[in-house]
Amino acid sequence: MTESVPLAARWDLLVIGGGPAGLFAAHEASRAGQRVLLVEAGDDMRGSLCPRVTAVLRGQRVRDVEKFRLQCAHCTCLTGVGGAAFHFDTNLGYITGLTRSKIESDGSGGTRSYSGLERALGDFDTAQRGIGEVYETFYRLGLTRVEQPAPHDQSPPGQPGGGLDGFSLSDTAPSQPITVDEALVVVEALIAEIRTEHGVVLTGHRVSAVRKEADGGFAVSVHGPRGGEFQARSVIVAAGKLGLGWVRGLLGDLGVRHSSPRKVDLGVRLETSAQDAAPLTAACHNPKLTFLNDAAQPVRTFCVCERGRIMEYEFHGTVVLDGQHCLTTPTARTNFGILTTVDVPEGLDGTDFALDFARRVNKAGDGGSVVETVGEFLGLPPVPGGPTVTSSLLGAARGDLAGALGPERVADVAGMIERLNAFSPGLVGPHALLAAPVVERVYPALDLSADLESSVPGLYFVGDSSSKIIGVTYGAVTGVRAARSALTR
Ligand SMILES: Cc1cc2nc3c(=O)[nH]c(=O)nc-3n(C[C@H](O)[C@H](O)[C@H](O)COP(=O)(O)OP(=O)(O)OC[C@H]3O[C@@H](n4cnc5c(N)ncnc54)[C@H](O)[C@@H]3O)c2cc1C
Repeated sequence: MTESVPLAARWDLLVIGGGPAGLFAAHEASRAGQRVLLVEAGDDMRGSLCPRVTAVLRGQRVRDVEKFRLQCAHCTCLTGVGGAAFHFDTNLGYITGLTRSKIESDGSGGTRSYSGLERALGDFDTAQRGIGEVYETFYRLGLTRVEQPAPHDQSPPGQPGGGLDGFSLSDTAPSQPITVDEALVVVEALIAEIRTEHGVVLTGHRVSAVRKEADGGFAVSVHGPRGGEFQARSVIVAAGKLGLGWVRGLLGDLGVRHSSPRKVDLGVRLETSAQDAAPLTAACHNPKLTFLNDAAQPVRTFCVCERGRIMEYEFHGTVVLDGQHCLTTPTARTNFGILTTVDVPEGLDGTDFALDFARRVNKAGDGGSVVETVGEFLGLPPVPGGPTVTSSLLGAARGDLAGALGPERVADVAGMIERLNAFSPGLVGPHALLAAPVVERVYPALDLSADLESSVPGLYFVGDSSSKIIGVTYGAVTGVRAARSALTR
């Protein structure tokens, strides 16, 4: 993947990170005739697949052994070209158009709904168009176009109620699945188009520092066999969730205006049999159901993985959980996150607060993640015959999850379970499993323009690093938007 041609010292744009946000940024800039260098610390996408993954591309086997078992606490498969999600089957959101899938208290007893992307880009129509453009690129480069999926339901913006009792918002916007095999095709096509135009993709190289130069450009230190110091007129940071530690340092080094996040998302993943969960996923793959708890904080389902697995990975000295879609080799279980948006106590840094939450839970799990049945969690009498759902996690320890989460998060999880069971009795039985910790939205809150430009002119933050959004298509949209802005510099 690494180019053999000599690298120029000066670039119009240097992109840090080859996940969806960085790839789409480099792609946009290259197609517009800009000289762009994309630096990715990991390998190309095939090289960064889990050694236990089997992927078949155009009939050719990429790896042997078992597929979709990314469950090492020290998993490195979330890095490399393709970024965090494309190394296993994934769901892309909003296939028929963007919805306002989040809800918050309006401060006067009511609620308002919004899309994170709309907030990042300044308005809904721009965000909507951006999603459409990204899908068109995916389709042009090889993703199968899904014609008009089932109609979806969303409670009207700003109005509580929605489709399901007890929830303030229920959003069943359809999403499009993309398997590893399809992602390999699309990502390789993206790379090919970056290269045929004016771009270079350098894998196995890590950006260690960025310095502002007197002429308004940047000097970027790149480590690796062909590394060195490169000059760039603009820099786009697309270092992803796992790049958090490095990005925090960069913010300080360059004096980028930011503040501690005042809200973070904390919670658990619930895993039950796919059969029991079927009513939840009948309307769409990833229903987003939200209610406000007694403190007016939103509690929501997050990343529903129908017939998937839970995975764990190392994150800044903690072990955290996420969900894997197993579209190619479905499991008999469905899992989803239950997250509360928590106000960070005054005087505490939000990132550290979230990481402390994860560490506290890790402690109950002997240094890793922890699982408990719903019955144990809620203090119900033991189920005759013992648990009927087994965890898809390989490494989690049994432990006192309720004790580690504390009474407020326990009440949130119990509230979600109660509502899901009111919607479909038996959806979450006492034998279902809860696992933790899950932490999201932990990035420092960056002061960015609607073009994702920071307070340092010419320095952009996109994708997960933007602190505004997460997700593949959202990340790609922010990458395109930043690249277009960089063109005008
Ligand atoms: C287990 C899991 C499941 C997910 N499932 C979904 C899903 O189904 N659908 C969905 O939309 N989203 C999903 N997400 C979220 C999604 O993966 C991310 O939001 C998205 O990948 C973010 O894209 P990004 O380009 O910002 O960062 P990333 O995809 O994280 O990519 C960042 C890249 O930057 C590189 N990098 C970091 N620092 C440096 C450096 N200093 N120098 C050079 N390179 C560097 C990394 O190696 C990495 O490859 C999931 C995430 C996880 C962890």
